[in-house]
Amino acid sequence: MTKLAYKIRGLTKVYGEGHSAVHALRGVDLDIPQGEIIVLLGPSGSGKSTLLNIIGGLDSATDGEAFFQDQNLTTMTEKQLTQYRRRQIGFVFQFYNLMPSLTARENVELVTEISDTPMEAAKALELVGLKERADHFPSQLSGGEQQRVAIARAIAKQPSVLFCDEPTGALDSVTGRAVLRVLKDVNQNLGATIFIVTHAAATGQMADRIIHFADGGVRKIIENKTKLEPEDIHW
Ligand code: ADP
Ligand code: MG
Repeated sequence: MTKLAYKIRGLTKVYGEGHSAVHALRGVDLDIPQGEIIVLLGPSGSGKSTLLNIIGGLDSATDGEAFFQDQNLTTMTEKQLTQYRRRQIGFVFQFYNLMPSLTARENVELVTEISDTPMEAAKALELVGLKERADHFPSQLSGGEQQRVAIARAIAKQPSVLFCDEPTGALDSVTGRAVLRVLKDVNQNLGATIFIVTHAAATGQMADRIIHFADGGVRKIIENKTKLEPEDIHW
């Protein structure tokens, strides 16, 4: 049997209290096998980011459990969660969150400095096809290149899991496909489990598993037996 990256049971998140309470997650159950590409689809406000933030160790649950391998994230202390994020997790967001005053290499080095088992910043940039751009500042790079720097930064610590929250949301479809290619390569070369939240449903065609979210819960899970290459996806 395939090992699980995550086992999630009854995961619940309520923001606020009383009549202003928002039920962001209403008891989510999920098994996520290690090494898969998972695409999460669903309307805005359905709880996708909340799920990623909790299992990525950025936010805490109100109820339920989430196991990473055999560690229960929902009972960890802040310090343990920080260790977990630092050792195991990479995040990529829609807006690249690069430091404008640092070069591509220096942006990646921000992470490798605090990591236990980093790869060289140059190697991470090479993996995303930006070896020649290491000394450029974000303002000298296109949107797609900036996102690839953000991916290099996220993978430089050799994470077990990469969480990508709308990574192609600010990109045109050609550039978006190039970014998806990089994610697929990272999945294959580093064996990382990769979550991709997106509004572009076609992205599901490159996934091992497509999870449809609605109203704080999982509506449908599709195992994709006929994966396409990123270059063959159209949206
Ligand atoms: P999605 O990523 O699917 O668009 P989110 O997980 O961001 O959805 O949000 C789910 C629900 O939780 C939404 O109603 C949103 O407004 C609410 N929410 C998210 N974060 C917070 C927060 N920090 N405080 C209050 N409500 C929040
Ligand atoms: Mg979101």
